[in-house]
Formats: sequence, structure tokens, C-alpha cells
Amino acid sequence: MSRKGRPDLHPRRRPMTDHERFAALVVCDLATRCWIWTGTVGGERMPRGQFWVDGHMVTAARYAWEEAYGPVPEGLMVLHKPRCSSAMCVLPTHLYVGTQFDNMRDRMEAGNYATRPKL
Ligand SMILES: [Zn+2]
Repeated sequence: MSRKGRPDLHPRRRPMTDHERFAALVVCDLATRCWIWTGTVGGERMPRGQFWVDGHMVTAARYAWEEAYGPVPEGLMVLHKPRCSSAMCVLPTHLYVGTQFDNMRDRMEAGNYATRPKL
């Protein structure tokens, strides 16, 4: 995708960058401050935002995390912090990298919190 030799005569009509495409599919939830993904969602048991980059699909959360912090270490996955309320959230500060085990533990802890009586 070289733009050499083709001066951009229509700067407003240039193709959007990956980042711009991503940003256009995210809305901010003012109540929770989550960044809610509004693009493609896939996965049957665990729905996740999907984003296409360079011909392959990554999860929207993973893309957001890598944009903010760099490549996800091999073998780890991008997970939502327990305090984040939406599986569709792609706010980097609501995400962390961990293992499948971390994910299960967080879900159990979140469940425990939910069963506590409210004051
Ligand atoms: Zn969130």
C-alpha cells in the first residue's frame, strides 16, 4: 500500500487508516465510561467484537490494547477487568492481558460481588 508517486489530490477521500476505522466503530458510554464496540460481533458462546486488519480478524479488545500498549505477549489473551461492565468494551484501561485461567477467576469473583447484599 505505497502512496509513492500518487500525490493525494483529495485528502478527505483518502482511505481511512485502521485506527480511524476502529474509532468510527466505538461509542463512549457516559454512564460507565466504557468504550462500546458497535462493529461486527462474533463468537457463539462468548460474543466478542471483531475487527479486520490486513486481511485477518482480531478481537476489537485486542486491537485496542495493542494500540495502547504494544503487542500482546504470546499465549496471553486480552481480558476485561472485573470492574468493567461490558464484554463489548474496548477501553484500554478496562482491559488487561492474562490467561484463560485469569479470565475464569475474574468471572467467579465478579459473580461473588454481584451476590453481595446491597447497602
Ligand atoms: Zn469498560
